[in-house]
Amino acid sequence: MISLSKPFIGEEEVKAVVKVLRSGQLSQGEITLEFERKFAKYCGMSYAVAFSNATAAIHTALHALDTNEGGEVITTPFTFVASANPILMMRAKVVFADISEDDFCISPQEVQRVINNNTEAIIPVDLFGQIYDYKGLKKVVGKKKIKILEDASQAIGAEQDNIRAGNFGDVGVFSFYATKNLTTGEGGMAVTNSERLVKKMRLFRHHGQLPGKRYEYFELGYNYRMTDIAAAIGLEQLKRIDDFNKKRMKHASLLTEGLKNIPGIIIPNVKKNNKHVFHQYTIRVTKDFGHTRNELGQYLTMKGIGNGIYYPKPLHVYPHFRALGFKKGDFPVAERIANEVLSLPVNPQLTDENINTIIKAIANYAK
Ligand SMILES: *Cc1c(COP(=O)(O)O)cnc(C)c1O
Repeated sequence: MISLSKPFIGEEEVKAVVKVLRSGQLSQGEITLEFERKFAKYCGMSYAVAFSNATAAIHTALHALDTNEGGEVITTPFTFVASANPILMMRAKVVFADISEDDFCISPQEVQRVINNNTEAIIPVDLFGQIYDYKGLKKVVGKKKIKILEDASQAIGAEQDNIRAGNFGDVGVFSFYATKNLTTGEGGMAVTNSERLVKKMRLFRHHGQLPGKRYEYFELGYNYRMTDIAAAIGLEQLKRIDDFNKKRMKHASLLTEGLKNIPGIIIPNVKKNNKHVFHQYTIRVTKDFGHTRNELGQYLTMKGIGNGIYYPKPLHVYPHFRALGFKKGDFPVAERIANEVLSLPVNPQLTDENINTIIKAIANYAK
């Protein structure tokens, strides 16, 4: 079986966890602080705040950015649901803008159509491991006081113009869920250069308690802390991330070489000046292929080749968004792309031979 995603946990991670378990400090402590410091440094940002998961980090970041009840927050309909749900947690208004088909990310032109005086923030997503069109979005935002929250959950180590993911907004958020390029089992991180935002995020993460003042609740807060157990895994994974990403990129370029001339298969586009870290290697299967996208997926599964559809439906067609007035047809690019995408294995543990097996299977199946 060639698996789509398979976390790599080495002896170092195991030892680090055992050390924490034996230390008696299981919840958030010094190890989390060290992970935050090293993570911020990796991203080239001043501060990092660790969370129990990225959904919590996005919720917290929206709070820190002063999102108001009823204020409008723009995001993409073609993403994991956790990019958008925190907008609802803030009782703010979800506004979707359609995507560009060349990078699957939010289209600045589409943002232009929905931006208005009530827009408070935008959540672009670095989908599949490639940073969104930052310059295009900045042009649309212009001098308006609109905050940007970069959902970089899938993009640790990605770069645009030699700048790492996490830098393309007021706050950047990463996920360490088990399938992500760097994992702590569950976990998340918010990075920023603003000391003010860091203070607000630390409060919100920890029941609204003032630092060092237990049982002094300054405001409503949650328990969104990371454990030192997770942070210990994260510190070891951070040492490996460049190697992980290098392997993903190598597998991606081999797949691209092998698939680029197959009619009906559209290979992922790496945009100029971008380093794409391929959280997912996502092809599009179009009419000329001779089989449907679902047929190709089933064929690969039968051949023992893992594959996945990210994402089978755009967010606006799900009940809790439809209830807000969205309907099928609202975001035609996202809707079409959702019917075409198929993600293929590029995880770091694969061999070149595995990649050749995938290429041969698809080439043989093509009509
Ligand atoms: C994984 C992911 C999240 C949520 O991360 P969790 O750590 O599972 O909460 C949010 N946004 C995107 C784009 C993701 O891929």
